Amino acid sequence: MKGTRNKSKEPDQKKIAALVRNLLVELGEDPSRDGLLKTPDRVAKSLVFLTRGYRQNLKAVVNGAYFASGTNHMVILKDIELYSLCEHHMLPFYGKCSVGYISQGKVLGVSKIARIVDMFARRLQIQERLTEEIANAVMDESGAEGVGVVITARHLCMMMRGVEKQNSAMTTSAVLGSFRTDEKVRQEFLSLVK
Ligand code: ZN
Repeated sequence: MKGTRNKSKEPDQKKIAALVRNLLVELGEDPSRDGLLKTPDRVAKSLVFLTRGYRQNLKAVVNGAYFASGTNHMVILKDIELYSLCEHHMLPFYGKCSVGYISQGKVLGVSKIARIVDMFARRLQIQERLTEEIANAVMDESGAEGVGVVITARHLCMMMRGVEKQNSAMTTSAVLGSFRTDEKVRQEFLSLVK
């Protein structure tokens, strides 16, 4: 992706902590007071964790966890908890993600779908792209005939600042394959994840 750093390299937590210390000073804080002494290290550690999706790849996350399946019914994993950071403010957005697909002979392990969601959520994101990336990854990895993903999330950047809309949630969806081309399939999916 354009403009991203070497993704496989672990970030330097000491460097991040030093930047956070500077940030605290600039915000008018005193990083040497008791309560803040360990804050730069904690923030660095937490940011590295919250962005660890950059250092993961799909093949390793899925790790060949497929099961043969004779049927081609719709499989749905509903209400997967989702936590991400918006790329505009680096503030959290959080909510639920539902993933459905119709397999063509192989199904993905249930925990693998949750891991795919985490892999893309633990990056700086916008909700629309996150939704599409999850759909594309499930499609690629499962070889499904169709995939649908719906995310409903609340964005702290909207709730805490700016417009301060406390109760608005945003819903995004991405449909691929038969979920896009077959109206009945799409309707079945959308009614099941409601
Ligand atoms: Zn934002």
